Amino acid sequence: MSRTLLVYAECRGGQLRQVALETLSAARILSKNGDLIRILLVGPNIAEAASAFLPYGVDTIYTIEHDDLEHYSPDAYMAAVQAALHEAQPDVVLFGHTAIGRDLAPLTAAALNAGQISDITAIEINDGEASFTRPLYAGKVFEKRTFQSGPWVVTIRPNNIAAAAPVPSDGDPSIVDIPYPAPSLRSVVKNVVRKTTGQIDLAEAKIVISGGRGVKSADGFKPLEDLADLLGGAVGASRGACDAGYCDYALQIGQTGKVVTPEIYIACGISGAIQHLAGMSQSRVIIAINKDPEAPIFKVADYGIVGDLFDIVPLLMEEFRKVLA
Ligand code: FAD
Repeated sequence: MSRTLLVYAECRGGQLRQVALETLSAARILSKNGDLIRILLVGPNIAEAASAFLPYGVDTIYTIEHDDLEHYSPDAYMAAVQAALHEAQPDVVLFGHTAIGRDLAPLTAAALNAGQISDITAIEINDGEASFTRPLYAGKVFEKRTFQSGPWVVTIRPNNIAAAAPVPSDGDPSIVDIPYPAPSLRSVVKNVVRKTTGQIDLAEAKIVISGGRGVKSADGFKPLEDLADLLGGAVGASRGACDAGYCDYALQIGQTGKVVTPEIYIACGISGAIQHLAGMSQSRVIIAINKDPEAPIFKVADYGIVGDLFDIVPLLMEEFRKVLA
């Protein structure tokens, strides 16, 4: 029997987020011959993001546009998702494991009376059965889960499953505009003030340059920002650096901060406390710069540089500049 997989394609300010294509990739892994993959985009000014899915071989692209959806609010967004669930009748709903996805997924699971598996880093299909890998205890162990019955709701951790690429297809998918049900909202978000350093979203960055208490001051972050600019990465921080007032808490990575899984994580002057490792230990390549050769960060690092970060970071800049030229 064919199934319908509904991918929530997250946008910010009308721009498609990278995790949307990773979530589509997860849907492709799960889909069997004859299954339908449908896309859902919610928010104002999403027409361009919606048409970006035309070459991806999907069945239908649903859009729900309304001014109420400019800023995320659970009431407004869930009303939109409910309308899409009604239209699409999905067997599987996929979200990115982002702040929005983490909020909407359990609401969706409750609405569908579905099971949910969250924060998936890998999907395996064995004899037609899907099993989902997710980290536990801050990445110390991994568990594999399967669903006993449908419908399914899943969230996909950013930067773990390769983004979907366009595929040749027989015909264009239809773009269907679903009317926003306009519920009476219990609260309205008027404005969102973002506290980020650069253009690149820390949670989705492929390269993260992170500073700890060893950076010693707000000015000490400047070489890290320069390195991030050079490499097209984002700047992060330990809580030690945030607590010391060197940077904003929006940059904090760890158990009580953001979880990042970039291709390259460069930890500068960070000791490697367990709470910090909880937010970055799944990074593909970890490079640690620390003047203490006994610092615990070296236990998780793929490459360790023992030295003063204020000497090492400029040297790295020099070398990267040569390579990039
Ligand atoms: P430190 O531990 O002080 O380490 C600084 C490091 O810099 C040292 O290893 C030192 O050798 C090195 N250094 C100094 N100068 C230089 C230099 N010039 N060049 C190179 N190296 C240098 N922490 C987080 O990061 N994220 C969290 O989400 C988080 N959540 C927490 C939740 C709870 C409930 C608790 C109790 C703690 C949490 N912490 C978290 C705090 C955590 O335990 C550590 O205190 C914190 O990570 C330490 O930050 P740090 O490594 O920057 O500082």
